[in-house]
Amino acid sequence: MKLRENGYIAYIVNPKSGASSTTLLAHQFKDFLEEENWRVELYLTKSLNDAQRIAHRAAVDFDCSLVVACGGDGTIREVIQGLEGSDTPLMIIPGGTENLLANELGYDEHIETYRKAFTGGFFRELDIGMVNSKCFTSVLGVGIDGEIVRRFSEKRNGHISHIDYFWPIWRSIWAHRFPKILIEADGKEIYCGRAMAYVGNISRYAIGLEILSKANYSDGLLDLCVYKCNTRLRLFKHAILTLLKLHRDSSDVIYCQCKKIRVLSKKGEVLTQIDGDPGPSLPLEIEVVPNAVHVLVPEGAKPAGIRTRLRRMMGFH
Ligand SMILES: [Mg+2]
Repeated sequence: MKLRENGYIAYIVNPKSGASSTTLLAHQFKDFLEEENWRVELYLTKSLNDAQRIAHRAAVDFDCSLVVACGGDGTIREVIQGLEGSDTPLMIIPGGTENLLANELGYDEHIETYRKAFTGGFFRELDIGMVNSKCFTSVLGVGIDGEIVRRFSEKRNGHISHIDYFWPIWRSIWAHRFPKILIEADGKEIYCGRAMAYVGNISRYAIGLEILSKANYSDGLLDLCVYKCNTRLRLFKHAILTLLKLHRDSSDVIYCQCKKIRVLSKKGEVLTQIDGDPGPSLPLEIEVVPNAVHVLVPEGAKPAGIRTRLRRMMGFH
C-alpha cells in the first residue's frame, strides 16, 4: 500500500500524555516528514474526545494521506475509533507510560525505526475490539485490573511514570474481593465463579507480561484468558506462572480465541479497564472488528519483552 501523494499528514499530539521525554521523538519525526517535503498539519488535543474528533475529520478528508498519532494508549485508542472503517492509514508515536499497542507493532524509542517504517511503506491490518459500543485496541481487564486502574485514575494528574502505579497496585492487592462473574465465548458459557479476566488483541501486557500470549492483532479473533481466582494466594500463583509463561498450562486458567464475549456480574459491582483507562460497567458485550484500521509498522520488528521493558522503565536504552 502506498500513501496518497500530494496530500497532507495530520499530526495529532496529546501534550499531556504519560511521558514527557518522548515528546522529543514526536518533534524529531515531524522534522523528518517536513524534510521529506510533506505538508504536516499539527493538532494538539485538549481531551480524549478531541483526539477522536480530529481523527474522524482527517478520515473523511480526501486530502489527508496519513494520520500520525502521538500519545499514550488512551490517545491512540481514541484516534483509532475516529479512523475506524476509513482507508486513511495510521502511524503511532508512543508518548505514554506503557505504550502497549506501539510496542506490539514493533515501535521503540529510536527515531531511526520511525524513519525506516515511513520509507519502508509496510502496512498491516489492525483489528480492534468493541465493548458496549466503545473501542479498545489492546487489553480489556475485568476484576483486579479494573480496581487498580480506578484507584490510579482518581489520583492521576498530568504526566505519569511507572512508580505512580505502585500504591494503586499495592492497595488493590490487599483490598480486592474477587468478584463472581459469568463468561460466555461465542455463545457458550465457559466459566461462572470468582475470577479475573483479560480480553485483547496484543500478546504483551504491562511490563511485557504475556497474558494473552497467542494474540495476533490481525487474525480477526480476540484472545480471552480467565484466571479462576478467589484468594490472594491464588493471585500470587497466577502472577508467578504468568511471569514464567506457564499460566496457559494451569488447570486454573481458561484460554481461548473467539469473536464474541459476554461478561456478566453474578454479585455486586465489578470494575473493568480498557487500555489503561476505567472501562464500562457490566454486563459487557464484546466483539472483534476485523481489519478496522491500516497501520504503518516497521517491517520485521518484534514486540519488546520483559527485560527490554524493564530497561526502558529504568531509563536505559
Ligand atoms: Mg486477534
